Amino acid sequence: MTATRGPTAALHDTHGRVATDLRVSLTDRCNLRCRYCMPAEGLQWMRGSEMLSNAEVVRLVRIAVELLGVREVRFTGGEPLLRPGIADMIRRISAFSPAPSLSLTTNGIRLRRHAEALAAAGLARVNVSLDTLDRERFITITRRDRLSCVLDGLAAAAEHHLSPVKVNAVVLRGVNEDDAVPLLRYCLDRGYHLRFIEQMPLDAQHSWSRSTMITAEEILSLLSAEFTLSVVPESRGSAPSEDFLVDGGPGRVGIIGAVTRPFCGACDRTRLTADGQVRNCLFSQHETDLRSMLRQGRSDEDIAAMWRTAMWGKLAGHVIDSNGFAQPARPMSAIGG
Ligand code: SAM
Ligand code: SF4
Repeated sequence: MTATRGPTAALHDTHGRVATDLRVSLTDRCNLRCRYCMPAEGLQWMRGSEMLSNAEVVRLVRIAVELLGVREVRFTGGEPLLRPGIADMIRRISAFSPAPSLSLTTNGIRLRRHAEALAAAGLARVNVSLDTLDRERFITITRRDRLSCVLDGLAAAAEHHLSPVKVNAVVLRGVNEDDAVPLLRYCLDRGYHLRFIEQMPLDAQHSWSRSTMITAEEILSLLSAEFTLSVVPESRGSAPSEDFLVDGGPGRVGIIGAVTRPFCGACDRTRLTADGQVRNCLFSQHETDLRSMLRQGRSDEDIAAMWRTAMWGKLAGHVIDSNGFAQPARPMSAIGG
């Protein structure tokens, strides 16, 4: 297959996929220190001059939406609610034509403060990360005593109809297996959609190990001790999550088996880092520098053409579950999960 070239051509790759879902990282900084993501002391953060300005972010998203066929935009980080001016960026991006669907992945700490303004600006949905309901375990995992802020942030998201409110949980062996069932009960009771994500080798400290990670199969087994799960056959599509009805429904739970049940064949994502690099995959070893093009005064069409080239070279899939895998130099917090 050959990609359609021209001013309105979409983000095709050589494996027949088309990227229509853009993940934009707004910062690599964070107010938590989740142990599966970064070390206790934090990381060497990007300098301000390295990061895209708000106007540069808005311009690149406009190019993606208006010239490259992107239909969904998710803001992430690091912690995206640390980024000054996020509501204003969302307001400007929601005015593009065609209007993209806008969502946000956050640790929820600042959500109570921002939910109303984000919803008014045009944000449709949020995913909030929450791995435990136990205060001590929350401190063990995130190295911060902020559980109550996250729970209040979730409530604020629901109050402002940033729905469906999704909750992302990572289960770590010997740390929070006991939380899988209570987390699901908590989410079902409140109408939140819980998804468990397999731990991936994207932590800054390179401490991930295939032999100790909790697999999708194990998570299903933990949940099956308390609930009857039945697979929702049509659930996956290009979504990474396999959905299961809980006790006959309507409540659901999702499992994102990024390592053991990869979904690369249906991937429709393209990623932009906070310093203006396009990545065609979370696990890519290669990046394409759009920030330099912006700062050299290149045209929208030139930037769009470079973005298409970056996506054209996307590999068929990651090879985490094989010996040939090499972790990318950038950690998850600097790529945008
Ligand atoms: N700070 C925000 C948050 O935590 O939601 C947004 C960025 S965070 C990198 C995005 C998602 O990636 C979170 O749901 C987090 O749990 C997940 N994540 C981080 N490191 C991970 C890893 N090594 N494996 C699997 N998921 C990870
Ligand atoms: Fe921060 Fe999200 Fe990484 Fe936790 S997972 S340290 S909240 S970026």
